[in-house]
Amino acid sequence: MDGNGQPREWSVKKSTKLYQIKGWGEPYFRINDSGHVEVRPDPTVDRAIDLHDLTQQLAGRGLDLPLLIRFPNILQDRIRLLNECFESAIREYGYDGKYRGVFPVKVNQQRHLVDEIVESGRPWRFGLEAGSKPELLITLAAMEDEDGFIICNGYKDLAYLETALVAQRFDNTVVVVLERIEELELAFRASEKLGIRPCLGVRAKLSSKGMGRWKDSAGDRAKFGLTMSEIVHVVDELQKRDMLDCLKLLHFHLGSQVSSIIPVKNAMREASQIYVELMKMGCEMSFLDVGGGLAVDYDGSKTDFRGSMNYDLKEYAYDVVAGIQEACEKASVRPPTIVSESGRSIAAYQSVLVFDALGVDHVDFEDPPEPSKDDHRILDEFYETWKGIQPKNVQESWHDAQQALEEARSLFKFGYLGIRELARAEHLFWSCCERIRRSMRRLKYVPEELNAVEELLGAIYYCNFSLFQSAPDIWAMDHLFPFMPIHRLDEEPTVRARLADVTCDSDGIVDHFIDVEEVQHSLDLHPVKHGEPYLLGMFLGGAYQEILGDLHNLFGDTNAVHVRLEDYGYSVSNVIKGDAIDEVLRYLQYDPEEMVERVRKQAERALNQGRMTLAQLRTFMRHYEESLRGYTYLKGDA
Ligand SMILES: *Cc1c(COP(=O)(O)O)cnc(C)c1O
Repeated sequence: MDGNGQPREWSVKKSTKLYQIKGWGEPYFRINDSGHVEVRPDPTVDRAIDLHDLTQQLAGRGLDLPLLIRFPNILQDRIRLLNECFESAIREYGYDGKYRGVFPVKVNQQRHLVDEIVESGRPWRFGLEAGSKPELLITLAAMEDEDGFIICNGYKDLAYLETALVAQRFDNTVVVVLERIEELELAFRASEKLGIRPCLGVRAKLSSKGMGRWKDSAGDRAKFGLTMSEIVHVVDELQKRDMLDCLKLLHFHLGSQVSSIIPVKNAMREASQIYVELMKMGCEMSFLDVGGGLAVDYDGSKTDFRGSMNYDLKEYAYDVVAGIQEACEKASVRPPTIVSESGRSIAAYQSVLVFDALGVDHVDFEDPPEPSKDDHRILDEFYETWKGIQPKNVQESWHDAQQALEEARSLFKFGYLGIRELARAEHLFWSCCERIRRSMRRLKYVPEELNAVEELLGAIYYCNFSLFQSAPDIWAMDHLFPFMPIHRLDEEPTVRARLADVTCDSDGIVDHFIDVEEVQHSLDLHPVKHGEPYLLGMFLGGAYQEILGDLHNLFGDTNAVHVRLEDYGYSVSNVIKGDAIDEVLRYLQYDPEEMVERVRKQAERALNQGRMTLAQLRTFMRHYEESLRGYTYLKGDA
């Protein structure tokens, strides 16, 4: 609105800029002419799916919100892009080796997603990485074709090692990476017992560190990896047993979301040198595995801020290839097959969480009534402050309003002010804030302390999703995901709001939002129209969030679905209904049938003693039983 309360001219273009969708969403997400977000799952063809219409179509199939929509075409495109970037770097540098990526399944172990990756990755012989025994079991079953590629990381016991070693007799290349020195003895034991010469790798603890939240994944005190002396020990032990040919791979991992390219370059230099040295010591190496860390630009700022990245896929691939090339040429050793374990960069874009706003909490701004002669003098003073607010005295008025509120509250505590008068004082305070805010807009320079006024006046939209289930990283580490409405983008958003989730945890609130310059504490939204659902999307949450999500307040998995482009439009498959309440309860050893019996007994007692009617009993039992079978989330009334 402008100062006179008139809606301003608004356009899709303005929304595009406001929500910075070009920065974080290209080429997969944009706003169409109807003011809806549209998804272009395969940017190589000119086809789009309207996200708002799609959500309605899916609702028609009984898929209630919140709903996680996966786009396998996006996954396929990310795999294509990563491989093509490495291919083009290899071509351009005349690198005499290949690239072979793997997907670390810990990023998203959902079966349909892993199947899609294996399928989409086949043209590039893309592989999988396991970080634990359960993940090893997944990768072995998923890579059933010939010529698969599996990297085995993580803590290993004898059963893990024996399983992996025997699997080396499949048609696949299976590399067991030693992450701790203790694993060497275990590997020797397993290999002797089974009579299999192992195919091994070592994970090096580099002195180069990553940057940002996970920088400690590398460096001298990292949890995983072998120090230089341990690597030398491994080589000596292998040599003693005439097994130097068994060491095939050198691995390092800088940590996730490495937002600057500099640490990548440094790590490449160090790792390439170790690789060359291992070759010189007689190991018949064939792979250099540069781990994960390839970032996602969540805020679209293209900077080295933690939620962004100051490089792109192409630059990453070029720097990795160039780093190895240089070291190998200098030392005249055969260049390795380059392996990378990018998880976040492949999986983040493929899903969108759509949810609805259930209600809005914002402050009421009707003009306050003029105090009468009998009213307490504090109300008089407050009223005068409110009336006198102008652009030139906003700061002073802000101080006066705060002081008057404090005084009113203290008068109340000592019994000099009744509850109705206190209520009027609070109303006056909010009215002052609103006037101050309006006056602030006419100022060229707004004093810093007045930002608090905007924040105080910010609305809260109650939204039908659980942060702890669908975006746990927001809670755990203030991670930034792009949020925005998925429709009405041709209307001006006039409300600034934070998003509260449905849990009763005060941490269940989104109050950090992406911005190119600084993190914002509220999001621009539209006033909710009565009787019309207001739909929002959380984007780029396809990596890590699904499996890290928990059952806080017993909000379970959301409904999920795959939507794929087809010649005739799109197809809907792999519909996975979210958890029902009884399923969630069973995880916690409750027996829903027994629970029904227990409450029925109490209801019967109330009926017999005349405290409850038969109709009331019926209503109660119907709700209780239907709720048990139903979705854990709320059903919007709109
Ligand atoms: C987590 C992890 C990855 C994936 O990292 P991204 O930053 O998601 O690409 C790769 N390798 C190892 C060893 C990991 O622990």
